[in-house]
Amino acid sequence: MALTVLIVEDEADFSAIVALNLTRAGFATIVAKNGEAGIEAAHARHPDLILLDLMLPDVQGTEVVRRLKADASTRSIPIIMATARGEEIDRIVGFELGVDDYVVKPFSMREMVLRINAVLRRGSGLAPTGDEPSYTSGPLFIDGPAHRVFLDGREVELTALEFRLLVALVVNRGRVLTREVLLERVWGMQADIETRTVDTMTKRLRDKLGTMGRFVETVRGVGYRFAEGQRDA
Ligand code: CA
Repeated sequence: MALTVLIVEDEADFSAIVALNLTRAGFATIVAKNGEAGIEAAHARHPDLILLDLMLPDVQGTEVVRRLKADASTRSIPIIMATARGEEIDRIVGFELGVDDYVVKPFSMREMVLRINAVLRRGSGLAPTGDEPSYTSGPLFIDGPAHRVFLDGREVELTALEFRLLVALVVNRGRVLTREVLLERVWGMQADIETRTVDTMTKRLRDKLGTMGRFVETVRGVGYRFAEGQRDA
């Protein structure tokens, strides 16, 4: 059965081109012309992925994300945000939103399909594969199979990408991971996203980890490292 992509886009010409290209790439598509219709379609049709325009006539794309993530039945659907250049990309990607990736308009259809496939391949992070190990590091507990993180017994709400970033760092604790390596391992694709994206997300992860945040060390000019000796402390 073909995977379904929900396209939330108010420009009809553009959504038609996107739908055509996704159909050619083997996907089934649904088009919603505004934010409310998009939210409705997400609930009714349960797409495998949502390609969401940031600038919509009724509800902002960011608000659509917030509402989908607040609802258990739509929370795990991966979202790729489509933005125009200069629309505060850091805020979209690094912030609390839980967007899995973004594309900057005008994007090539080939790039769009590549990114959709990359996101679908790595999964939403909320669909456990069952083969992820768990880790304990001081007050930090990473429940691998459940994709959940606890600090002093309290759950830390991480986005799918933040979870992957944390696991990548903890698995390689004591070793520096470059931004390029993190992009490849965490974002699941070749490093053609700006490396600044890694910095933004690492900062958010550090903030969310509270007292454990300091164990995510910046190695100036190289990348990031999870402090060694923190496992099973
Ligand atoms: Ca638009």
